[in-house]
Amino acid sequence: MQPDSAQAAVCERIELALGDITREHVDAIVNAANNSLRGGGGVDGAIQRAGGPEIMAECRKIGHCATGEAVITGAGRLSARFVIHAVGPVWQGGGAGEELLLASCHERSLELAREHGCRTVSFPAISTGAYGYPPQLAAPIALAAAIEALTRLPLIEKVRFVFIDEELHGVYEKALARLKASA
Ligand code: ADP
Repeated sequence: MQPDSAQAAVCERIELALGDITREHVDAIVNAANNSLRGGGGVDGAIQRAGGPEIMAECRKIGHCATGEAVITGAGRLSARFVIHAVGPVWQGGGAGEELLLASCHERSLELAREHGCRTVSFPAISTGAYGYPPQLAAPIALAAAIEALTRLPLIEKVRFVFIDEELHGVYEKALARLKASA
């Protein structure tokens, strides 16, 4: 396979969907967590509510996660087997290493998924809610990071990005189309 057709094949393992990430039937769902792993609103609140108290109990034991990193717990009552708690950066205007940190929390999440034998993983649009990352800028970074990680992690079959918001879904669709076109 030529290198660019290899990248095109990797893009085929990425899927975008509209819906509630807590309802995903995958091995692991990714949570947009914060450093203290103490829960919050947005995706985090939805996951904790739907999954039940076991997830928070495990988060308390772990205690902390650095920005750009991820940790893993069980998924309580959710259909997924694991929740991967990834901490994206707070948007500060773009000059505080946000791009690298956003990419790295996606890569670390997929590496953790692989270490736990996951073949299917669903991500929310990390950092685009309370953390204020402009979706037009976050989308290509998140998608390119997932594509890069998938080239190294052949056992991960499918990565889904799941959006509660239709507009956001459209932004990521356009970004993925651009990445596919350049592959
Ligand atoms: P962050 O603090 O990393 O910005 P948020 O949880 O505030 O994380 O938001 C991240 C994104 O997740 C937002 O774009 C928001 O629209 C979206 N979101 C919120 N709830 C859900 C859900 N249940 N499923 C999928 N996406 C969700």
